[in-house]
Parts: sequence; C-alpha cells; structure tokens
Amino acid sequence: MRLKDKTALITGGGKGIGAATALLFAREGARVGILDINEEHLKGFASQALKAEVDIKTYKGDVSEKGQIQSIMEQFAKDFGRFDILVNNAGIVMPRPFLEKTVEEWERTLRVNLIGVFLCAQLAAPYMLDQKSGKIINISSIRGIEHCGREAIMDYSAAKIGVISLTKNLAKALAPHINVNCVAPGHTRTEMTASLPEEVKRNMIEGAFLKRMAEPADIAKAILFLASEDANFITGQVILVDGGFSLKMT
Ligand code: NAD
Repeated sequence: MRLKDKTALITGGGKGIGAATALLFAREGARVGILDINEEHLKGFASQALKAEVDIKTYKGDVSEKGQIQSIMEQFAKDFGRFDILVNNAGIVMPRPFLEKTVEEWERTLRVNLIGVFLCAQLAAPYMLDQKSGKIINISSIRGIEHCGREAIMDYSAAKIGVISLTKNLAKALAPHINVNCVAPGHTRTEMTASLPEEVKRNMIEGAFLKRMAEPADIAKAILFLASEDANFITGQVILVDGGFSLKMT
C-alpha cells in the first residue's frame, strides 16, 4: 500500500502504460482517475478495472485542449477532494520519412506530447500548491535521449527531449512542496509499438541489453516509485527504463 489514500490522475490512461499504471496505483491504495481522448479506450479500461475489482473514475478529454483539461481538473478535485499525483502519460507517434513529414504532423505531435504536459501540469499545480504537496511524473521516451532519436519520428523525439527539459524547469518552478520527475521508457509492448514491422521489433529487442521489450508493468513500477514517499527527496530527474537500450551508442 505505497499510495494509501493518495489521489492520482493519469492522462492517456485508457491503454498501455497509462492503464497499467492506473491499475497498479489502485492496488497500492490510491484513489485513481484516468483521462483519455478515446471513448473506446475508456470503455475497455472500465471493464478491465471492474474485472480487477478496482474503482477508477474515467474522464474524456484531450490533453492539448486547455478548456477541456481545466473542466476535468475541476471535476477531479470535486470528485476526489484533493490532488496528490499527476502522471502526464498521454502521447502519440506518427512515423514518416523526413522528406514526407508534414507541418501538421509536427504540430499535432508537439501539441499532444509536449504542450499537453505543460497544460496538465499548469492546471493541476494550483491544487497541489494549495495543499503544499504533490507529485508530477512526466513520461518522456528513450527517443528523447539525445543520441537515441529515430529519423522517422524526429518530431516525437523533439517533443520527448522537450518533456525532459520541461520536467527540470517545472521541478524548479514548483519547489519546495511539489516533486516533478520523469520516466523515459524504452520500447514497450503496447498499441503504440504493435503495428511496427517485425524486423523493427527484432532490432528493438536486439538493441536492449536485457534482450526483450518492456511490458507496461515494467514502466508502471518506476512511475509508482516516483509517485511514492520513497522518492520524496528526488526532483527534476529522469529514470530510464529501457533494458539498457540507451547504452548502445556510449
Ligand atoms: P498507447 O498508444 O498504448 O496509449 C496511449 C493512450 O493515450 C491511448 O489510450 C490514447 O487514446 C491516449 N491519448 C492519445 N492522445 C491523447 C490526447 N491528446 N489526450 C488524451 N489522451 C490521449 O501508448 P503507450 O505505449 O502506453 O504510451 C504511453 C506513453 O509512453 C506515451 O507518452 C508514449 O510516448 C510513451 N512511450 C511509449 C513507448 C512504447 O514503446 N510504447 C516508449 C517510450 C515512451
């Protein structure tokens, strides 16, 4: 029960890493809400939560839309009475070769993956500042580590590098009562990687020194650590959970 009676909101919680984190947090005693843009994902998650016998509230919204997020934050604070943990997990990726990439893809990728993190943090922070406590965990990526970017997802890599920079700035801006940290996952078995060609997946496994892809639960456990009291003296840091993938160029 490492999060007993804490309240947590997880963005992009309908699937993958976000869903695994929501279920783990609930098992650790937290009262949890998830926010997702996709109605089907929210419904699918709700029945998963029912099966796991955990009570998790769902909110439909787009992390890149200020009006929607403001209403959801207000509703979350009403529903739960306080705001202890925010996990900025929602993310998208649109692979395409450099010469074919569009400005619209760049804009949407930055808007969801980077500006969405800023918006959710800015709208959750006042509740945490009032309480004089809170934890924010942002999800970057191995592709946001300088030498690990990939040409077809250069916009995603730029956004995820931005999330690391934003984490450090938020840690300074929200100190001393709010901890802001970041988890950078390696390749993880979720919908985001499911459609990749088998050869690409094989290379991902080969590139990781631990010789497998991560399961969503591997990432959720690192997020749990940063959300828990065990991480009370950690702020502005990035934990790579990548099976050693990022070591390959060093
Ligand atoms: P996923 O695609 O399985 O799930 C992402 C969820 O976010 C979906 O339910 C989706 O509906 C939701 N979402 C998308 N855009 C949204 C928006 N604008 N507003 C609200 N919700 C939105 O992805 P995942 O693999 O679980 O990824 C979770 C996070 O981890 C992302 O930030 C991703 O970039 C990061 N990540 C994933 C991997 C990987 O290999 N899967 C690796 C590194 C980092």
